[in-house]
Amino acid sequence: MGKALIIGCGGVASVAIHKCCQNSEVFSEICIASRTKSKCDALKAKLDGGATKITTAQVNADNVDELIAIIEAFKPDVVLNLALPYQDLTIMDACLATKTNYVDTANYEPEDTAKFEYKWQWEYRERFEKAGITALLGSGFDPGVTGVFSAYAMKHHFDEINYIDILDCNAGDHGYPFATNFNPEINIREVSANGSYWEQGKWVETKPMEIKRVYNFPEIGPKDMYLLHHEELESLGLNIKGIKRIRFFMTFGESYLTHLKCLENVGMTSIEPIEYEGKQIVPLQFLAAVLPDPSTLGPRTKGKTNIGCIFQGKKDGKDKTYYVYNVCDHEECYKEVGSQAISYTTGVPAMIGAMMVMTGEWNKPGVYNIEEFDPDPFMAALNKWGLPWQESFAPELVD
Ligand code: NDP
Repeated sequence: MGKALIIGCGGVASVAIHKCCQNSEVFSEICIASRTKSKCDALKAKLDGGATKITTAQVNADNVDELIAIIEAFKPDVVLNLALPYQDLTIMDACLATKTNYVDTANYEPEDTAKFEYKWQWEYRERFEKAGITALLGSGFDPGVTGVFSAYAMKHHFDEINYIDILDCNAGDHGYPFATNFNPEINIREVSANGSYWEQGKWVETKPMEIKRVYNFPEIGPKDMYLLHHEELESLGLNIKGIKRIRFFMTFGESYLTHLKCLENVGMTSIEPIEYEGKQIVPLQFLAAVLPDPSTLGPRTKGKTNIGCIFQGKKDGKDKTYYVYNVCDHEECYKEVGSQAISYTTGVPAMIGAMMVMTGEWNKPGVYNIEEFDPDPFMAALNKWGLPWQESFAPELVD
């Protein structure tokens, strides 16, 4: 039916590409373009033979001209950006120049400042609208499915939502004392930053890992979780009617936190370049290079993830609570696509988002966060493509 250009060929992209190939009725042709072409070729060799035609290309996604050349040659219906957040703007520029739809899973972050926010991408709204193309921002799990869950709760269960708690639990065990489940540089920048939550129209800032709660996760059991700043808080705070407070919690084990503290204390998580043997290096990038590659964790990881949202608000004048979540099993994901559940829970919604835009189910020229679209077809697709969701109307609440 259509063509997708997928940029990046790491952990998340690998799952999204497997899923595009399973969904060949929609993705009749894909081009995998990344910095290291050999990785694209290896994945193509694994997946060739199915109904989806696969080609590969080398691209430096920091370079707009190179991106434009690839888009003009391949003529995709949508570009799915699964490289790093640093490349969001160059890829959006190339989509504008070629009038091509755009989908990503993480908002822009300048490489030299560990601060992610939507303002840079929201500045493209008018230009995308005028060009008649759609940019769908944040089509992973969180952000992504958490925004779809919020839109679904608003549409079907509430007149107003006053409180949202997003709970991200990874109870997987990969057997390493310290490893990250997605790109180590991006992950460590996120978890070592100050926390924050949105309350009464303002950000309340916390020290990293200052707020801790224990939550009894369905199908997993009690886990320590910590309040983090997370990008969907920014858009949901604006897009969900009646919101008074929105928080994000993620679980971390003791070993992870102890190692992180130690690495911070010795300066290894810094993004300030230092001189080493006559060369400038960024300590965090060096650390990322010595840590296990997240795409190799698949065969070692056992256990489950549970990611979902608890909503509290009002329906027909009465108080109402609603919890919707997905439970995903690391070993099942590995059996299906050769990846662990963190890549899986991001790669599946990335494929679904690209499908929504490509089929025209979601077609709104401009730049939009995922909760601004009709959630129903996405919720149905989650059940079909491997991330079934469950709901509860009397969940345990987070104090
Ligand atoms: P990886 O590091 O595994 O993969 C990144 C890929 O991008 C690699 O193939 C890398 O190439 C490629 N790349 C990096 N820079 C460039 C460049 N300049 N030009 C071309 N290609 C480039 O990361 P993940 O797969 O773990 O994460 C991918 C994205 O998903 C990230 O933006 C991350 O923030 C996001 N994410 C979103 C989540 C969500 O729920 N919304 C959850 C987890 C991740 P090379 O192979 O040469 O290194």
